[in-house]
Amino acid sequence: MEKTIHRDVVVIGGGIIGAAIAYYCSKAGLDTTVLEKKELASGTSSRCDGNILAIDKDPGFDSQMSLKSQQLVHKLSKELELSFEYRNPGSILVCENDAEMEAARKWVHKQQEAGLEFNMLDREDLRNESKYFAEDLYGGLECQTDSTVNPYMLTYSMFYSAQKHGAKLHTHTEVKHVAKNAAKQFVIETNNGVFTANKVINACGVWAPFIGKMLDVDIPIKPRKGQLIVASRQQPVGLRKVMEFGYLISKFGGERTVDSLTEKYGAALVFEPTESQNFLIGSSREFNGFDLKVNHEVTKIIAKRAVRFYPKIADMTVIRTYAGLRPWTKDHLPIVSHVDEVPGFYVAAGHEGDGISLAAITGKVIEEMITGKETSIPTEPLRYDRFKERVTS
Ligand SMILES: Cc1cc2nc3c(=O)[nH]c(=O)nc-3n(C[C@H](O)[C@H](O)[C@H](O)COP(=O)(O)OP(=O)(O)OC[C@H]3O[C@@H](n4cnc5c(N)ncnc54)[C@H](O)[C@@H]3O)c2cc1C
Repeated sequence: MEKTIHRDVVVIGGGIIGAAIAYYCSKAGLDTTVLEKKELASGTSSRCDGNILAIDKDPGFDSQMSLKSQQLVHKLSKELELSFEYRNPGSILVCENDAEMEAARKWVHKQQEAGLEFNMLDREDLRNESKYFAEDLYGGLECQTDSTVNPYMLTYSMFYSAQKHGAKLHTHTEVKHVAKNAAKQFVIETNNGVFTANKVINACGVWAPFIGKMLDVDIPIKPRKGQLIVASRQQPVGLRKVMEFGYLISKFGGERTVDSLTEKYGAALVFEPTESQNFLIGSSREFNGFDLKVNHEVTKIIAKRAVRFYPKIADMTVIRTYAGLRPWTKDHLPIVSHVDEVPGFYVAAGHEGDGISLAAITGKVIEEMITGKETSIPTEPLRYDRFKERVTS
């Protein structure tokens, strides 16, 4: 008969969120085990950009939570053994008309009120930033604290240090069933043996609802597809991450003055120079189930959008394209929460396009919840049952 292994804390999911939880929990001395159905970082955490941003967060709780996470990532760049291509040059949003400049001014004002380092940029500032920018851009704004990482390397680096702190990692271990036994422990059945645990953390990103269902917990997360283009190493087009102001509108669901296909696929410029000076160019947003196929109609729209802001990159070479699934929630905030109906069960998922930015603070908060410490940020806005409450109120 198969032997059952008992562990105190079991994290399901080996993406960047599972990595951060494993790191902070094992560092705090908790007996921590990770179960991952494929390889580490084989889900969304290897199909994304690597921006640790506050610039695109809703001013207030959302941007302050991001700032905390940025500070933790800065610390991680010093405390983790394996480096992860960390740089913190800040990032910018560019505007293509007066209406966007006006909205940008309000955005900067609100972020400054929330205590973040935001400034407006004029045409001259853009010219100094990059000679590749289109000449008709009006200006933009910058967030000085924004940073960038290689998300794949950060995930591996946190898992590597977690293992050094005693965490156990089981890859190719798919959780098939979770229930509670008479001793109120979780019984976790996998294709690779049975585990029991006192606490279970669901860090399965877009797959979190399937784990929730096993315990009768409804987790309202949906996959929101995004595509990226990778351009080859050539001229240094820019040294900082750049987005168009319309990205905010696509993210939060407002109306933009763009053609219907750009609107349909939520395409907005996101330009990210990597450490090796390749460029990631994005991105799109659409609900299309779990489909991960690259749609070349979308690739063309993303490329067109990039050329609108950087006309000269039309001559540059594309290496490849890929798509990932953002774990979307209705209010764009993740679920980082204990589930009161199932004592010992936690959800840490639903970070949509912000999971790289928010991984560190998520891992820290889960560790603080489990060890009963005061949490680094208020956690009320991240409760899993907030959607239910809204429907009934
Ligand atoms: C195009 C694109 C660009 C992005 N750019 C950025 C960015 O610049 N900055 C940013 O902050 N965020 C960005 N994101 C968002 C970010 O990538 C995600 O929020 C983040 O990767 C989610 O991490 P996760 O660990 O929750 O999920 P995942 O990385 O998907 O990890 C979940 C893991 O759970 C495992 N799993 C699922 N079911 C089971 C099971 N039954 N048993 C065991 N294991 C299971 C999966 O195999 C997977 O490895 C982007 C996303 C996309 C698509």
